[in-house]
Parts: sequence; structure tokens; C-alpha cells
Amino acid sequence: MTARILDGSKIRDEIFAELKQDVTQLAAKGVRPGLAAVLVGENPASQLYVKSKIAACEQLGLASWLHTPPASVTTEGMLQLVGDLNRDDNVDGILVQLPLPAQVDSKRVLEAVSPAKDVDGFHPVSMGMLVSNRPGLVACTPAGCMEILRRNSIPIEGANAVVLGRSDIVGKPMALLLLHANATVTVCHSKSRDLPDIIRRADILVAAIGRAGFVQADWIKPGAAVIDVGTNKVTDAAEAQRLLVNFPARLEKFRAKGSLLAGDVHPDAVNSAGALTPVPGGVGPMTITMLMSNTVKAAKLRRLAHTATPDKSQPAATAR
Ligand code: NAP
Repeated sequence: MTARILDGSKIRDEIFAELKQDVTQLAAKGVRPGLAAVLVGENPASQLYVKSKIAACEQLGLASWLHTPPASVTTEGMLQLVGDLNRDDNVDGILVQLPLPAQVDSKRVLEAVSPAKDVDGFHPVSMGMLVSNRPGLVACTPAGCMEILRRNSIPIEGANAVVLGRSDIVGKPMALLLLHANATVTVCHSKSRDLPDIIRRADILVAAIGRAGFVQADWIKPGAAVIDVGTNKVTDAAEAQRLLVNFPARLEKFRAKGSLLAGDVHPDAVNSAGALTPVPGGVGPMTITMLMSNTVKAAKLRRLAHTATPDKSQPAATAR
């Protein structure tokens, strides 16, 4: 069996097209959704992430603002900035790019973001809304995994779903989303026993642990849907050989480039799974996509709530 490839870039394009329509409809009501990004210091990876997020805003016609406090900023300075953004009515979403410098109390800063503008979905209020299955802003990566499942018509209700990893930003919200979609959910972590046996029962596996090729192909139930969240940079030649022994063309590419991006699931799983997200090109493109979706959703919830009758036309991209 060769798995159907679940193409995240294709879904990103679909959702972007839907969001553009939403943005046009909001413009007709005098609303232009806007995202304020806060980028502290000069971390090149963070600079790259924020640049892509601002570019996505521009592509969709959202307003965006970039705030760049120096690396020496204090917790008080950050709280002041977040407070200003909370009060600015044009700002629908606030994104504080992590990591923050060591002297800044990151938790205090993230908890200062108004839950109505918490487009990363990290605030305890957003988490609480998710636990109680109420409409709110959901962490982008797990929300993107649900879009991949739904838009590929993978049956969730009644399925055995295994979530490998229990982080606050991926594993836990993922497990809750699957539970609310009526899957039977098992959450595994570094202390779980008999992982291969648990994974072998999964109709849906979501792997988010940050270990290249950890899940072996023979742990996958034949025909299962596999969502591979892991993004692991591999530079070691022996490790690349272990992962790509059956993919000579990709191994050649690794040799030329000196690195490759690997998921948490061994690439050989393409021969046992029924459907599989590639790495890169699967979950990766969905994270920014859902950030855009959350910004539009935040604008609707915050600015149109007082005029709202239930919006039955709301697209799946913004629904939970
Ligand atoms: P994290 O905060 O480091 O959490 C890792 C989780 O995996 C923890 O719950 C840990 O268990 C568990 N774990 C670690 N080793 C394990 C093992 N050998 N067996 C079973 N469980 C194990 O990581 P994260 O932020 O959730 O990210 C996970 C992966 O997803 C990373 O590769 C990250 O780069 C990637 N990611 C990708 C995107 C994207 O846009 N594509 C977005 C976010 C994250 P304990 O709780 O017991 O320690």
C-alpha cells in the first residue's frame, strides 16, 4: 500500500481563498482585520517566522504592524506594549514571537494578551474555552491538523486516535480537538509504556514529539491516517541513511545539501499508512494559515459580535 499524501500547501491555498472572501465581506462592513506582531531582538529564525506571517497578512489584505523592542527590553516594557495593543481597536490579533530574552517573564507577557486577541491560542482563557468546547481561538498547529483531516474526509467520529506528545501548544489541544470531534483519544508521552502496541491500534495518529523518524513503519496500522507534526533538522549522515535507506533520490539530496527536514514518523510509513502528511509540506504550511484564520475569526468575534445573528455561512476554516 502506498499512502495518499495529505498536501498541506493545497489546503493552505484553499483556506487562503476562503479567507480572502471573508476579508472582502468584512471590508464591506468597514472592518479590516489586523495583526500586530511583536519581535524582540535580532534572533534570525524569529525574524524569518515573523516576516512570513507579515507577508501572509499582506497577501490576504489584512492590516499588520511590526513592533521591534530591543533585546534589552524589560518585562514592564513588554507589558506596556501589550497593554497598548490590547487597547488599540484596529488590532484584532497580537502575536508575541517566542522565545523572549531571559530577563523577560514570558508567561506574564503572554497572559497579559487580551484573550479576545490571543490568535496563538496560548492564553489560559483560550485553553479553558477549548476544554469546555466553546467558540474561541485555538492553537494554530493543532487547528491546522484538524483542517487536514476534515478537508481530506478522514473519518474522525468513533475512530481510535493516538496523540504522541502532550505539549501545551500541540499535543494537549490536539487531543481535545479530536475528542470534541468524537474520536476515542489516547495521549502518549515520554513515560508511556508499550508505545508500539498503542500506536498499532490507531486509526488516526498525530505524532508531535520532536524525534526524527521515531515512529517505525511497522507500528502503523495498515490504512491509518498519519499526521506528522515533527520538524527535525537532520545533519548526521548515519541518521540520514537510517531514515532514507529506501529513498535514494532524497538521500542524494541530503548529501548535496548536508541537511534534511524529517518528521517524527519514519519515511517508510508511506508503505503502511493509508494517508500521510509529508515533511516538509504537510502540517508546516498550516500553522501560518491558521494564524491568519484566527485573526479573521478574532475580528468577527470582537467587532461583529454585537450585530451578530448566528453565522451559518462561517467556513470550516474558522469553525471548530
Ligand atoms: P515539546 O514541547 O518538546 O513536547 C514534546 C512532547 O513529546 C512531550 O510531551 C514529550 O513527553 C514527548 N516525547 C518526547 N520524547 C518522547 C518519546 N521518546 N516517546 C514518547 N513521547 C516523547 O514539543 P512540541 O512543541 O509539541 O513540538 C513537537 C514537534 O512538533 C517538534 O518537532 C516541533 O518542531 C514540531 N512542531 C511543528 C510545528 C509546525 O508548524 N509544523 C509547530 C509546532 C511544533 P513528556 O511530556 O513526557 O516530556
